[in-house]
Amino acid sequence: MVTYKRILLKLSGESLMGQQEYGIDQAMLKDYAEQIKEINEQGVQVGIVIGGGNIFRGLSGAANGFDRVKGDQMGMLATVINSLALNSALTAVGVKSRVLTAIRMEPVGEFYSKDKAIESLERGEVAIFSAGTGNPYFTTDTGSSLRGIEIEADVMLKGTRVDGIYTADPEKDPTAQKFDNISFDEIYNRGLKVMDLTATTMCKENNLPIIVFNMDQKGNLKKVVTGENIGTLVHL
Ligand code: UDP
Repeated sequence: MVTYKRILLKLSGESLMGQQEYGIDQAMLKDYAEQIKEINEQGVQVGIVIGGGNIFRGLSGAANGFDRVKGDQMGMLATVINSLALNSALTAVGVKSRVLTAIRMEPVGEFYSKDKAIESLERGEVAIFSAGTGNPYFTTDTGSSLRGIEIEADVMLKGTRVDGIYTADPEKDPTAQKFDNISFDEIYNRGLKVMDLTATTMCKENNLPIIVFNMDQKGNLKKVVTGENIGTLVHL
């Protein structure tokens, strides 16, 4: 039995790099596709937003002299590249999916609308939402909050390489403690960097809970949708 019937899965671009310094690790992509297949077969409706940090980020571009808006547009295009890669990997494991873009660019992908997204989900197709929100100065975390709210997802699942939210960065501070659950307000009060504040606030204001979990461990996605208590649940 699944606990969540419709989810918005957020994957970072960086996680697609696997052990590489840049770009897309095929093994990583295949692993993600297989985990998504598992829950798709259980009848979970899956919307996905994938980042672009493995290819380009507007902020770092701006630090190197790029115009911020152009850099952000480059970043949004990077998310389209990753979305096409995931689309292709899902096809390879026998899962139907479609790429919807926040910026018009047929025939690369169809222009996003809520109706098209819901149609895909109800047909059992994975919907991949690319190009973030379509606007500069936003992130794919905000894109995920937005799409998650629009498609009326039960939960946003943020797949990362750490297994949840900690009091401090567990990769730097050995005394860091993990939360099983935490409220939005506590995230603000403690200044925790789960997502950027715009994305977090959108989830809070529209009552979309978030679960942060380790997606790099095979089988974890299935565990999360079946309600196993791994990761950290962020609630009102
Ligand atoms: N981006 C943007 N608007 C959006 C979403 C993304 O301008 O609505 C750009 C921004 O430059 C960002 C880049 O796309 O740095 C890649 O997205 P993000 O950094 O969120 O990717 P991730 O960190 O998840 O890999």
